[in-house]
Amino acid sequence: MFEMPSVDFQEVSRRLRARGMRLTGLKRATLAELAESELPLSADELVQRLEGTEDPSPIYRCLASLEEAGIVCHLYLGETPRRWALSENLGGHHDYLVCEECASVEVLADCALGDAVVQRVSDRGFTLLDHQVILTGICSTCAGSAEVKAPGTAD
Ligand SMILES: [Zn+2]
Ligand SMILES: [Zn+2]
Repeated sequence: MFEMPSVDFQEVSRRLRARGMRLTGLKRATLAELAESELPLSADELVQRLEGTEDPSPIYRCLASLEEAGIVCHLYLGETPRRWALSENLGGHHDYLVCEECASVEVLADCALGDAVVQRVSDRGFTLLDHQVILTGICSTCAGSAEVKAPGTAD
């Protein structure tokens, strides 16, 4: 079950100020859209969702600033363009199932990173800040239609 993270704008504003940036209306609106969306969004999708924006360049600049301040991160889901999501330390979580046939994306609610991996990482003295797990394969719908097409079933 997907739980929408609510954005901690005080924390966001603190991180931006630490880098000499301000929490503008566009940054606020962008973060609200990312928090509301179950799947990460591309810049084009953000342009469509944000009222009064047609030109993507301010969105690209906004996303770059937010990424620099560790507030959002980008990821690639299969063939689709780069997508954006809230950073893990602001409530984002980035584990997905991506179908190689139909490019459908499903959110993996349970973390795909097992305790054993987390333990091994910390044993190496590595401080884990964020992770993305993108599992590619064939979704059940596509697997079903592949069965129908499967050869060797002549009667
Ligand atoms: Zn599929
Ligand atoms: Zn995870």
